[in-house]
Amino acid sequence: MASERAARTVVVTGSSRGIGKHIATRFAESGDNVVVCSRTIEDCERVAADLEAEGHSVHPVEVDVSDKESVENLVDETVEEFGRLDVLVNNAGINIRGPAEEMSAEDWQTVLDVNLTGVFYCAQAAGKQMIAQGDGGSIVNISSMMGSMGQQDRTPYNTTKGGVNNLTRCLAVEWAEHDIHVNALAPGYIMTEMVEQAQEDAGFDQQDVRDRTPLDRFGTVEEMANCVQFLASGDNFVTGEVLTADGGWTAFGWGCKDD
Ligand code: NAD
Repeated sequence: MASERAARTVVVTGSSRGIGKHIATRFAESGDNVVVCSRTIEDCERVAADLEAEGHSVHPVEVDVSDKESVENLVDETVEEFGRLDVLVNNAGINIRGPAEEMSAEDWQTVLDVNLTGVFYCAQAAGKQMIAQGDGGSIVNISSMMGSMGQQDRTPYNTTKGGVNNLTRCLAVEWAEHDIHVNALAPGYIMTEMVEQAQEDAGFDQQDVRDRTPLDRFGTVEEMANCVQFLASGDNFVTGEVLTADGGWTAFGWGCKDD
């Protein structure tokens, strides 16, 4: 149902599937203009067509967040289509797993380029637009609970998410004078294609995750969309914050629940 307030223009990166798709859907259902974007335009067009069929205002754009020019084009197309940009959700992310001592320079760089530099490029282009508009805005970076912990075979991923957390604080402080709120969401295990892939690669099973999670389940994409709605609302005095949504995983100090 459309809300009473004026429609915002929202860009959600990596919104062709997974958490990003649900975040984009929630904004669209709230009456906002939404730009659905990821690396493959056909996937974005499919998501956009489904949302448009339900009467929502959506525009698909192809973007590679690790390419500065492509990101600048994303913001230009957004402004061309909807006239402004109010909310950016930096959701696109990848993981390449492997032992640190064997990680190739190429794999290391690829994860950094998408997960950290990509977040910076998108925030930079969006922030510039929001500053020019002169009436504030919101940026929500999708980090991970892994951004504040060490784990085997996840060096580039966890390192980039830790970087995203501090990038969030830096931009929040720098752009506070423009009333641009910058926050991060640090999810725990949410069942998406990324986690299905990790299950296959690392061979863990779902029970392992539940045994380590006080709430005894995976989080849902809908719950992540709820958290993003709150962080993006801009009416909560929250900026520079990393909100952890992990069912208690990081609060839990020792062993398995049944120990
Ligand atoms: P996913 O793999 O299902 O979706 C990732 C999306 O990002 C896809 O649309 C993909 O096309 C897009 N993408 C990847 N590289 C891109 C690039 N260079 N340019 C533009 N788009 C690109 O992943 P997900 O599980 O939905 O995760 C979304 C975000 O949430 C990621 O940042 C991830 O690190 C984070 N996260 C996920 C979990 C989880 O349990 N699923 C937990 C913590 C954090």
